Amino acid sequence: MCYAIPGKIKSISDTVILVDYFGEEKKAYNDFYDLAVGDYVFAQGGYVVQKVSKKEAEEILSVWKETFFELQEVDLRLSSLDLKSAGIERKTALILDKIAQNSSLSKEEALYLINSENEREIELMLKTANFLRQKYLKNSCCVHGIIEISNRCQNMCSYCGISANNKTLSRYTMTKEEIFEAAKEAVNRHGFKALMLQSGENHGCSVDDLGYVIERIKNELGALVFISFGEIGLKNLEKLYKKGARGLLMRFETSNPEIYRNICSGNELEDRLEHIKNAYEIGYLIATGSLIGIPGQTKEDIINDIYLARDLKAEMFSFGPFLAHPETPLFDIRPVMEKEMLKTLALARFIGGKEVKILITTAFETLSKDARKKGLLSGANSVMINVTPRQYRKLYTLYPKRAHDQEDIVNQINDTVSLLRSIGRAPTDLGAS
Ligand code: SAH
Repeated sequence: MCYAIPGKIKSISDTVILVDYFGEEKKAYNDFYDLAVGDYVFAQGGYVVQKVSKKEAEEILSVWKETFFELQEVDLRLSSLDLKSAGIERKTALILDKIAQNSSLSKEEALYLINSENEREIELMLKTANFLRQKYLKNSCCVHGIIEISNRCQNMCSYCGISANNKTLSRYTMTKEEIFEAAKEAVNRHGFKALMLQSGENHGCSVDDLGYVIERIKNELGALVFISFGEIGLKNLEKLYKKGARGLLMRFETSNPEIYRNICSGNELEDRLEHIKNAYEIGYLIATGSLIGIPGQTKEDIINDIYLARDLKAEMFSFGPFLAHPETPLFDIRPVMEKEMLKTLALARFIGGKEVKILITTAFETLSKDARKKGLLSGANSVMINVTPRQYRKLYTLYPKRAHDQEDIVNQINDTVSLLRSIGRAPTDLGAS
């Protein structure tokens, strides 16, 4: 199974290449390969990650050709928008109409929308977000793999089940060989083209070892690597970039510095933001966002979170519900409702705009079994599949009863692909336009 469609190079201008996908042209950066016009490549997140032989590319494309256009039609049908304003406030209708016409949303309008409790208004809000997603990004949906390389953590964040607060958890750190093997299986056997490597903070795998693995993934497998190891510092960010990492997944958790201090045991939000900004300056693609439903958070904080993710120039937004873990100080906090998460995703699309990828998080899938489908129909266009070896996956307990923890990777892929097909989405990442 393949999670990206190969494209044919139409032109090359220094490190920027123009790739053709069934008549659609997209730009991609080429940092790594010797390429010529007419070659076939896979791109992810706007980077060329693999060169493919003509024969292989033509085989894949012949399978995709019909499906590609069929899926687009289904998507177009499901995302059409009829802004009938019966049963909704005039102000809501005007705001949604304005967004559908490409205008940007003021903070006051965003707050007005997030505060709506009217079912019909919420429904129209989610539909408008889906309409915009289709209009800007068509039907491509990124399917990234995540490998949780260690559950060791020195931090005492009060929301997190793998924090040092949890004394009952068995801790693991995968060896560099194990990480590479898991990546190899994900790329070569399952067809992933983008992988997130994630862990707690200070996990016992040295930066040199991580660099070694990332370089091998880049050179031997050909996949876009995102790192998510917490605040590793500028030097290490640079080191891993040189080895081939091109994305950073780091949530700021909340845009409210006071809440941040409370839940991140006295650490400062400013330091985390600095880290994200440094990574952006180095050249990393940024995936960031916050926890929805943490104690003290207001609707205005959520709106501020979305604006902050946008201001950090995120390529991908990751907003997910906070789910209490029994072995943490916040064990008795109730999660937000599904509709609050859906509203957040829709507002993320309204505020984040044209290019941004919006992820359905595993936490949301744990909160609601229909999260993927509903989220993808509310502005989101990205999902993650857990490809951590199963014996470790069950120990990466950020929160209890995590969705897909016991599922075989092949089953997860099959379920994902059939869901995507049912709503007209192609499991691809054609790169930034
Ligand atoms: N050490 C890395 C990865 C942390 S775990 C880093 O600091 O970025 C990845 C994410 O899981 C966190 O950023 C947090 O937003 C989320 N998370 C942790 N505990 C959670 C919980 N109880 N419910 C929902 N999400 C949680």
